[in-house]
Amino acid sequence: MTFVSPALRDEAADVHALLPALTAEERAAALATGYTLVRGARRRADERPYLDAFLQEFGLSNQEGIALMCLAEALLRIPDDETADRLIAEKIASGHWDAHAGRSGSLFVNASTWGLMLTGKLVDLPRDITTDAGSWLRGLSQRVTEPIVRNALRRAMQIIGGEFVVGRSIDEALARCAGDTTLALCSFDMLGEGARTDADAARYTDAYACAIEAIGRAVKDEPSLHARHAISIKLSALDPRYSLLQRERTLQRLLPRAIELSRLAATHGLGLTIDAEEQDRLELSLELVEALAKDSATRDWPGLGLAVQAYGRRAPAVIEHLTAMTRALRRPLAVRLVKGAYWDSEIKRAQERGLAEYPVYTRKSSTDLAYLACARKLLAAAPLIYPQFATHNAHTIGAILALRASAPGQPALEFQRLHGMGTLLYDEAQRQLKDFPRVRVYAPVGPHADLLAYLVRRLLENGANTSFVNRFMDERVAVEEIVADPSPEIERRLREGSLPHRGIPLPRDLFATARRNSSGLDLGRREILDGWQRALAQHSLGAAPVCADTATVTTAFASAAEAAREWGRLPVETRAGCLERAADGLEAQRERLMSLLVLEAGKTLGDALAEVREAADFCRYYAAEARKLQAAALRLAGPTGETNELRLEARGVFACISPWNFPLAIFSGQVVAALVTGNGVVAKPAETTPRIALACAEVLYEAGVPRELLRVLPMLGREFGEQALAEPSLAGVVFTGSTATARWINRRLAEREGAILPLIAETGGINAMIVDSTALPEQVVDDAIQSAFGSAGQRCSALRLLCLQEDIADRVIEMLSGAMDALVVGDPADLRTDVGPVITAAAADGLRAHIKEMTRRGRLLKSGPAAATTSGIEPARFVSPQLIEIDSVHDLEREAFGPILHVLRYAARDLPQVLAGLRANGYGLTLGIQTRLEGTLELGYAESNAGNVYVNRNMIGAVVGVQPFGGSGLSGTGPKAGGPHYLARFVTERTLTINTTATGGNTALLSLD
Ligand SMILES: Cc1cc2nc3c(=O)[nH]c(=O)nc-3n(C[C@H](O)[C@H](O)[C@H](O)COP(=O)(O)OP(=O)(O)OC[C@H]3O[C@@H](n4cnc5c(N)ncnc54)[C@H](O)[C@@H]3O)c2cc1C
Repeated sequence: MTFVSPALRDEAADVHALLPALTAEERAAALATGYTLVRGARRRADERPYLDAFLQEFGLSNQEGIALMCLAEALLRIPDDETADRLIAEKIASGHWDAHAGRSGSLFVNASTWGLMLTGKLVDLPRDITTDAGSWLRGLSQRVTEPIVRNALRRAMQIIGGEFVVGRSIDEALARCAGDTTLALCSFDMLGEGARTDADAARYTDAYACAIEAIGRAVKDEPSLHARHAISIKLSALDPRYSLLQRERTLQRLLPRAIELSRLAATHGLGLTIDAEEQDRLELSLELVEALAKDSATRDWPGLGLAVQAYGRRAPAVIEHLTAMTRALRRPLAVRLVKGAYWDSEIKRAQERGLAEYPVYTRKSSTDLAYLACARKLLAAAPLIYPQFATHNAHTIGAILALRASAPGQPALEFQRLHGMGTLLYDEAQRQLKDFPRVRVYAPVGPHADLLAYLVRRLLENGANTSFVNRFMDERVAVEEIVADPSPEIERRLREGSLPHRGIPLPRDLFATARRNSSGLDLGRREILDGWQRALAQHSLGAAPVCADTATVTTAFASAAEAAREWGRLPVETRAGCLERAADGLEAQRERLMSLLVLEAGKTLGDALAEVREAADFCRYYAAEARKLQAAALRLAGPTGETNELRLEARGVFACISPWNFPLAIFSGQVVAALVTGNGVVAKPAETTPRIALACAEVLYEAGVPRELLRVLPMLGREFGEQALAEPSLAGVVFTGSTATARWINRRLAEREGAILPLIAETGGINAMIVDSTALPEQVVDDAIQSAFGSAGQRCSALRLLCLQEDIADRVIEMLSGAMDALVVGDPADLRTDVGPVITAAAADGLRAHIKEMTRRGRLLKSGPAAATTSGIEPARFVSPQLIEIDSVHDLEREAFGPILHVLRYAARDLPQVLAGLRANGYGLTLGIQTRLEGTLELGYAESNAGNVYVNRNMIGAVVGVQPFGGSGLSGTGPKAGGPHYLARFVTERTLTINTTATGGNTALLSLD
């Protein structure tokens, strides 16, 4: 019973289909219960946990709250005191702490909050902290290097974190629960980031298994499964490659682990719930759940469960699928309905991927409504489905109770809350409402070091002003405003046409009216992956084109020059229109172009898709830029009696010489920039990838570019260069490739007689990523793997040198090595492949020689896996990813264009020297910085000459118009491709001055009033 994602319609239509979620009686009952709960909780404000009041004051709406969140996110993982002190100094200095003194009505905010948090538990602090926290904090910036300050803040962050964690180990957690009635029923969660390595996955699986055993021992006397503690697991913890692209691996490696855990839970008679993670993983998670449900060894166990996120627009279909599945298999299932914890990252990811629709709603009220519509479906499917409602929202609680009251047989259900949240509300519900269902607490367990990702999600949830928990105790907000039925707002917005949030444009409209964003593919949907695999099988490479000869170069320049005269006189609108049609054409032919990219250039699916998108983006972006530049002459101010205009006109014919590593994107970028500004083009694609260039040219011809104007000549580079650079009609050269060839072209141009021509050259780089000890190792590893080994390292932006602060180097290297083991090297036509072949066997030989040489200078830390499948590709073209440690920046003298990552350790105080060393190599293309310190960011940026600097993310995949791309020094001449200054290089400036008095006097002046 495979779950097939329904095609997402327009968001308004989807939300409309959810109405009416509640009947009029249910609505009234929901509101009444919500009011009762909030009013009751407000009356007991002095019983609320300190942290609640604290988080309400220091939320995300003020600098201080954000500073505290940064501290909480990073401080505990920083091993060295020096860096910890710098972070504290920065964050404390950035806040206006006094502003909070006495502002909150709560006794616990400001001085006493800090006092209680810092001294009430464990630490002994000077008296001024407890009596006047504002001035203490102000004074901190001068005293940050004192150990007492650092220890106090570390302690404070542990206490904030500790509020959300039940225990550091499962035994500690169980002991605490035994003595605390509010923790009588828990679902334990073993904290940790998703696994990055097999070792992580084995460790997390073990931790879950031990926890199940321990919980099993603790609850053995409780007869009913749903009245016992339970466990929650994250599938991403069970394998480092949990994704649809790695479906087979997931079924082979992750599933057995999940089965092992579910059998163990069944043996102990415990509930086991699979947490819901990213929407990308939804289909795969449902496949895994089904496999678990079919496991005959657990047939009679009613404890299997999963979480469903109501903010996901597929949630109603998911519930229908689960209902049908449980009926078909005749086995019960627990479903925990949550609203969802990753909303902001879902929105960002969809924008980056150019998805047609967001997978989540864009209005909070839509999520609230969807929750109720899903709840009704779940209650209707009871008792086969055991509904568990996870919420801290009083209206949602009231609505669930109302829905249950009108459901036949009043099905059994439970509520769930997160530990450290919703305490007062549920306490109030249990006191005031008769027969209130059982409440289970989601109880995270783990050491502080593992808390961070979870903590940040909780702080975001508590701090967001759309969040119920953030506002419900705030007396300034009326109860009627806090407890709101989502339907009236939605009905109004549907009427007004404002339901999708205007501040969150669809991914295709990201650039507003300037241009349409390129469209991507949702790689989390199996239907799309299967379709792509079928399409790939249908395409073949075909014969290589015949090489052009030097005589053809001459005729090509002559005909392009002739055609360019007319083309350049056309209105820019006509040329821009051609480019926009070409962008549509590229997207319409995406399948064929992607196939060519895989077959001819060895690109993986993701890389091929990104390249088609980039080519389409270049067309639309340069079309829009050309309109700005050339649509009208610029009228210049001057004396009366004359007009002065500045016009930008085409130069003539450009030679465009593009590389094999981006045979579509760079080829098209160069060519369309020249064309749209009115020039002719003679293009020479790379020797290894002519078919892609020719296919792209066909799209341009179909879009209206005259064939004579754009000539594509497959031939040897040197032969083309010798002839083309001597052509009299040559007006400029655009080149991307090696620094050596760029120099050769430059010399040739200098030797020409006649006009001095522009050369736009993009060359290579020795790109580094600086990582200090505040960085998150998991993020560093994800970003380094993508940046160094993506596209088999054959990007000029690729990461070559990872500079790790010595205090965290061992940990990062270990994780990186483990993550390298999980990479798939092999045939790019296989969807699983991460690292395809390098472009030729000769290039691979060069890389192997480099590996040998660098290993001699330094130490080989890790060789990644060998090619798993090569299917027809020369085996000698595969180079396994390598990790090599070197001792000095100067050891790395040249760019090795392949999957080879060098690592360098540095002491924190030596960062300026490392940066100076990087600068000294003369290149300046990309730089990555991973830090939570503004100081490191500023220093890294200021001391580097890199053209593109990326902070806390990967350093590849520059997006047209978003990250204009190109370097300085040995890395290129500028201007940046995909940036606002690029087109200006393709035009000449002319002015036209007309003495208007010559034809009969200064009429304009004489007719002034
Ligand atoms: C027991 C338990 C288990 C949990 N397990 C999971 C899990 O497995 N996976 C998971 O993802 N989360 C999980 N969560 C977290 C949960 O998603 C959040 O706690 C929950 O969203 C908060 O909902 P609320 O009703 O308490 O708060 P409310 O404040 O009423 O709602 C917050 C919700 O609205 C959404 N929202 C905010 N703005 C918008 C907008 N503009 N458009 C659309 N939606 C918006 C937020 O993303 C959030 O989902 C769990 C929570 C609990 C209590």
